[in-house]
Amino acid sequence: MLLRARTVLPLSSAPIHDGYVRIENRHVVELGDANALELPSGEEVVDLGEVILMPGLINAHCHLDYSSLKNAITAPESFTEWVLRLNSIKRQLAPEDILSSIERGFAEAMQFGTTTICSMVAFPELMGRLPVPPIRTWWFYEMIDIRHRITSEEVVQGALAFFEESPRPLAQFGLNPHAPYTASLLLYRLARACARSQEQMLLTTHVSESREESEMFRYGSGALHDFLQGLGRPMHDCGLDTPFGWLWRNGAIGPNWILAHLNDLESSDFNLLAALSPEQMPHVVHCPGSHAYFRHPPFAFTRLAGMGINVCLGTDSLASTNSLSLLGEARRFRQSHPRLAAEDLLAMITLAPAKALRRAGELGCIASESLADLIAIPYSGTLEDAAEAVVAYTGKVSWMMVDGKITDLGSR
Ligand SMILES: [Zn+2]
Repeated sequence: MLLRARTVLPLSSAPIHDGYVRIENRHVVELGDANALELPSGEEVVDLGEVILMPGLINAHCHLDYSSLKNAITAPESFTEWVLRLNSIKRQLAPEDILSSIERGFAEAMQFGTTTICSMVAFPELMGRLPVPPIRTWWFYEMIDIRHRITSEEVVQGALAFFEESPRPLAQFGLNPHAPYTASLLLYRLARACARSQEQMLLTTHVSESREESEMFRYGSGALHDFLQGLGRPMHDCGLDTPFGWLWRNGAIGPNWILAHLNDLESSDFNLLAALSPEQMPHVVHCPGSHAYFRHPPFAFTRLAGMGINVCLGTDSLASTNSLSLLGEARRFRQSHPRLAAEDLLAMITLAPAKALRRAGELGCIASESLADLIAIPYSGTLEDAAEAVVAYTGKVSWMMVDGKITDLGSR
């Protein structure tokens, strides 16, 4: 199949005016100038017309489970208050509510051009009932062992059962020891051991998200500390280190982990990161909408990116932001980093997360051998303005292809 478009924006190479992209099965095999093309007879041609054709967007951190909770928790006083309110809402959700929430999240993410999503799964009982995803999906099994009645080993057994399920189209799996305040060092280490035993298994966690998390680990105090102590969580790990420092120095997390947030880092954390070689570095996901909602400390993008750390943008869940639009997140991020070029912003929702998923060259770009996950948005401007126009685009995408198949967005 041959796709033709006014503008092709491959992101990994220069934009092309009046371009074409040739698809065979699930992959891009060729791209270039449509005027220099000789069409073999019989090849299907889809002329997309006045559009920008570009790679589908990649959301590196989301919780589709919570997609029905938009505006459900307004303006919490603190992160801990939000956790309490979320837990109380979660207890009232029936399995059907959660499954329809996931469907709703997929529909919204797709409308705004997402073709790959990393979604945490907070309800282990639903593992066997997760839908066949309409886009490329990494389901990250959320692991928590603060409650006495669940041992770390039992949590890992649950995760392994999840992996042993039959493969589903477009679905991939990873592990998500939730956060240092809900998962023990033992659980983190078991997750790492699992990942070592399974090729390509990805690991992610939330770390240094809120000031309250820092207070808990650094000083053994604060609202989150007191709440968790009340639940019976062993608190011997508090008052010793920063959350990130605690996990990293104890070998709980390491190279290639996808770390959500890192909002509240201290100089000791920066020193630790600065000493890493490129192969030792973790990937970081920043979620601008959720960050603003919680009024977290400023995210140190310039400093982290300056160290060579791969920084991606994600949406987090609709329980703490108002949209699953990655372009919306890019625009929000630009408010605090106005000098960033449109190309750099787009890289944070395409090339950077593809690297974090260990799929550089396959996802997040249009190149020979890349997977055919593509989107189009209406456009009749110049080649030079194309990337800027994408960042500014607030509508729904007009066309989508996932894994070489054209997706019917109208039915979603
Ligand atoms: Zn999260």
